[in-house]
Amino acid sequence: MPGEKGVKGVVIISGGLDSTILLYWALHQGYSIHALSFDYGQRHGKELKCARKTCRNLGVKHLVVDISGIRELLASSALTNHGIEVPEEHYTHESQKITIVPNRNAIMLNIALGYAVNIGAEKVFYAAHYNDRAIYPDCRWEFVESVNVTAKLACDNPRLEVVAPFVHKTKAEIVALGRELGVPFADTWSCYKGGEKACGVCGTCRERIEAFQINGLRDPLEYEIEVEW
Ligand SMILES: [Zn+2]
Repeated sequence: MPGEKGVKGVVIISGGLDSTILLYWALHQGYSIHALSFDYGQRHGKELKCARKTCRNLGVKHLVVDISGIRELLASSALTNHGIEVPEEHYTHESQKITIVPNRNAIMLNIALGYAVNIGAEKVFYAAHYNDRAIYPDCRWEFVESVNVTAKLACDNPRLEVVAPFVHKTKAEIVALGRELGVPFADTWSCYKGGEKACGVCGTCRERIEAFQINGLRDPLEYEIEVEW
């Protein structure tokens, strides 16, 4: 998608791999970016710390919105409830369904759309990617399309849109793009657990390791397990 120099956009950045690469990509495309993160009462704050660091390094205006009060309403997920174990199977395995935070991305996107209107931005960039689609319904292309119908109606602005440039890209393809864009992978965090080192066995660690391996790259993050790069 060609960039439009100077057009304002909002990037939703979690501090994970995909949304950090998305921020670099949007800047590279020439958009004038405001970054937005959400504290929704997630299991740990390591990703948000990474998001702050990335935005500081890039000189991008960054707001962290505290919606942590909704955690108890969404406590059926291992990502919002410390009483639920994080599953250790592969990312696409049925067991990962316990990591779904109900309607989380729709909630965040709608807040981001309101913010976009407020600052005169026309795009909201969203880092859903192809591997997400098996488990997470609000990362699917159909969902992005439907949010766009709603956004235009709700905000009465035909130019306002959610853009998900990675929705047909695999994690490995996104890592390849990150390398091209010179993204410092060490400043991103994926692991669902918030340990000193990444666990290497939760679904998102497994997916991340695999994406680096496919690219013949070594992830600069430290892992609790021995990984063959
Ligand atoms: Zn992990």
